[in-house]
This record gives sequence, C-alpha cells and structure tokens, in this order.
Amino acid sequence: LGVLTAVTGVSGSGKSTLIGEVTEELAGVGRLVSVDQRPIGRTPRSNLATYTGLFDVVRKVFAGAKEARRRGYGVGRFSFNVAGGRCETCQGEGFVSVELLFLPSTYAPCPDCDGARYNPETLEVTYRGRNIAQVLDMTVEAAAEFFADTAPVARSLATLLDVGLGYLRLGQPATELSGGEAQRIKLAGELQRVRRGHTLYLLDEPTTGLHPADVEVLMRQLHGLVDAGHTVVVVEHDMSVVAGADWVIDLGPGGGDAGGRIVAAGPPAEVARAEGSTTARYLTRALARGR
Ligand SMILES: [Zn+2]
Repeated sequence: LGVLTAVTGVSGSGKSTLIGEVTEELAGVGRLVSVDQRPIGRTPRSNLATYTGLFDVVRKVFAGAKEARRRGYGVGRFSFNVAGGRCETCQGEGFVSVELLFLPSTYAPCPDCDGARYNPETLEVTYRGRNIAQVLDMTVEAAAEFFADTAPVARSLATLLDVGLGYLRLGQPATELSGGEAQRIKLAGELQRVRRGHTLYLLDEPTTGLHPADVEVLMRQLHGLVDAGHTVVVVEHDMSVVAGADWVIDLGPGGGDAGGRIVAAGPPAEVARAEGSTTARYLTRALARGR
C-alpha cells in the first residue's frame, strides 16, 4: 500500500542515516528511485529538451516538415551535436571560447550563428513559422501551447508544467539549472514513465526554491504516485508538505551531533501534539492553515 512519509526535524540531524535505514528495511520493493538534486548534465550540450527525450520528438516533427522533406533533411539534420545541420564555427555550442592574455578564457556568443547553434540552411526549415532554434528558445509554457496537438510532445510538456517548470526554456543548458530544477525534471520523467510494480521514491527537499503555489502542484503529483500504490519518502522542512503527508518521522532533538534520534513518528496531527518536538509547534500552525 502506498504511503507518503515526510522525514523532518532539525536540519542535518542524521537524515542520511535514516534514509539508509528506510532503504534497507524496504528492500522488498520492486524498484528504488532516488530523485536527487544532482545536475542532469555537466555540459551545455545537455539541456532540458535532450534530457527528457522531448528533443527527439521535436526533431522528428521538423524532419517531417514539407521543406525538410523536399531538401532530404532527416532527423539528424536538426541535431546540434553532430555535423550536418549545426553551425561548424561553434560546433553547435552556440558560443565560442575567447582566449584572453593573463586571464582565464571566457565564452562569447558564436559570431557566425549568433548563439543559434545551427547553420543558416537548417534554420530555413520552419514548422508553423518557427525554426528549430526558435523552438529551443521557447519556454515550456509557450511550447505546450505550440505543440498542443502533437501528442508525444504535449504529454512530456504537461508533466514539466505539473512540476512547476513552465518558465524554463526547452534549450536551457543543464549547467544553468539549479539543483531543485534538476530534481523536478527527473521527477517529471518519472511521472511520465509507465510504472509497473511497486516503486519507492526518495526525494531530498524537493520544494527548495519552489513557489508556494507550485508546492501544492508537487504535492498533488506525489499523492498521485501514492494513489497508484507507490511509496514516497520525502525529506522536507516545508511544513505544508509535512502536514500533507500520511506519516511523519521527526528527527532531533537538536542539530548535528545533538540530533539523529526519532523524536516523534505518526500521522501529522499526532506529531503536532508530541512533547519535546521542535517541529510540533510549526506543524500545528501548518495544519491549522490547511483547514
Ligand atoms: Zn555557431
């Protein structure tokens, strides 16, 4: 049976140890997915669209455009990672390294493609009046409208909207994304996948940097996973998340060496009444707000 468990308490008080224990105890689960904040890629060649697989579908759409077919441009023509359609001056990076005397080298927009990453011939091919560089420059929100009737693209964009990432650009380089954004991109990927069997999801502070309205959306997503029979364990200090969990594990009593023990555990309303819990007071307030 799916349960949404929130691990909370004084910051840093042994949460990694606890997650280790939880993981071992639940070794019987079919699959363990840790949705962490590690970058989705370390170079600007990796971006939101390439990581999610969205770009494969977008390139197929472009290869199917009338002008592309007339010219014999295939899917590979619309990649900035291989020769053919990309700008060769910057090799599809969109920028070039500038060597400076006595200073570390720096990056400047490519003088040939002006950051577009493609050669002029590739950019002549348009789909609904936009070329591939202009599509990469669209936000998730704008692209969702643009591709509304292209089913596989629309589905993928809908999950990104669901985790509050509508403001990101499709071509946003992996190197420009925050840890929280990287984590939500991974979560969107999980939500999109067809899941069979029981999965345990581990999330470390997924609300970091998230707008309160988006926290609500995220919670709906996590409860969706639980309703589908999966287990979600989330380490979180945002009390609206803790209040919305099925089960709460409160760690303390202090931080660092003074912590690491379970101070209280149970449904949120019960932990809110627990004596000796620093969290209880904040949780009580969050529960009152939620009513
Ligand atoms: Zn270039």
